[in-house]
Amino acid sequence: MLACIRCGLCLTSCPTYVLSLEEAEGPRGRVGIARALAEGHLTITPDLLEHQSNCLVCDACSAVCPAGVHMDPLQVVLRSAIEPQRRRPWWQKAIRGVVFGWLFMDMRRFRLLVRLLWLYQRTGLQWLARHLGILKLLGLASMERLLPSLPTTFVIPDGGSSRGNTPAAFFAGCVMSTALADIDRATLRVLQRQGFSVANPKQQGCCGALHGHGGDLPRALQLAQQNIAAFEGTTGPIVVNSAGCGAMLKDYAHHLRADPTWAERAKAFSDRVKDLSQVLTTTLTMQRMPAQRVVYQDACHLIHAQRVSQPPRDLLKAIPALTLAEIQEPGLCCGSAGIYNVTNPTESRQLQQRKLDNALQADPEVIVTGNPGCLLQLRAGLAERGSSVQVKHLAEMLDEASTP
Ligand code: SF4
Ligand code: SF4
Repeated sequence: MLACIRCGLCLTSCPTYVLSLEEAEGPRGRVGIARALAEGHLTITPDLLEHQSNCLVCDACSAVCPAGVHMDPLQVVLRSAIEPQRRRPWWQKAIRGVVFGWLFMDMRRFRLLVRLLWLYQRTGLQWLARHLGILKLLGLASMERLLPSLPTTFVIPDGGSSRGNTPAAFFAGCVMSTALADIDRATLRVLQRQGFSVANPKQQGCCGALHGHGGDLPRALQLAQQNIAAFEGTTGPIVVNSAGCGAMLKDYAHHLRADPTWAERAKAFSDRVKDLSQVLTTTLTMQRMPAQRVVYQDACHLIHAQRVSQPPRDLLKAIPALTLAEIQEPGLCCGSAGIYNVTNPTESRQLQQRKLDNALQADPEVIVTGNPGCLLQLRAGLAERGSSVQVKHLAEMLDEASTP
């Protein structure tokens, strides 16, 4: 907060400022409001809560800020400080208690939920709920549309390790290892083809990003400590295939910097975290594939939070059959941003449509991304438009191209 020199360089990078052109909906305004609150010049009002919670925590402002203001950790601390004083209706408190305190704290429970959703899809209940309009009635229609076709089996970290010459450890993720388990399996295959011996530590869980951005820092830190301990017996890079998780894992060092027991361990952990595109090299043997025109969708938590934009492009360019086209406004958020599409459906939709318009102008057959949120957000938008353009994770493209 104190670093902000109010230069305004961040304004045109901020999706909520671009949509609203309001100072309070931009990074400079948000920093100013947070500072005024901390210094006692402002109190917590509905207006203040709205402007702060409208922030996508996309870090587009942090990426261009000359003074080093870092919005993600600022929002994490601010939201957690505000939460105990925030008045919420009982049902919101109950949902938060179940989701943050129960569901995401134990992967066995999370897997059970995804298994129930799988049954919902396979037994015809989904068809019934959609056709009877029950989802619309409950206000769940737009959220339900994001649900991918769920796999029959999950990736369950078992403490084992595959054979290879270079050690690495794999962060499986909660959504990635269940609802998108096929992408986790593709990631593991690609890593093995690249010669990695991949450890999959048993005690790992959710990264805690949802908690951190949702105002529950204590539980985010609990998950951080669980993950740090889980990976301590492994060596080499900790490979992540979800941009959002990767950004959070890299921030453990910051969030635990003042904890005498965990500060050093958190730093050692965060220093090892690498996005999948940062550990793979273009020497991966690629096979012939049908010619395809692709665009790459930069996930905010990769391009802005982790400053990773060239490695995924280099990997895609190494696939002989692909033509990679660039799009307009590549750094503008697609509106997914964790659960933003649930909490702020209007702004989320505006950003989704803008991203799709930009991507489709490049006339692709496939949109490639490195984050589950973007993947589901763009797939839902394309399905609504009746488009045949596919959305794939980078790991899926590389797996297809390198399958012997
Ligand atoms: S670019 Fe950085 S220093 Fe300038 S107004 Fe934005 S947050 Fe403040
Ligand atoms: S994190 Fe994103 S939405 Fe939030 S202020 Fe920065 S640019 Fe705007």
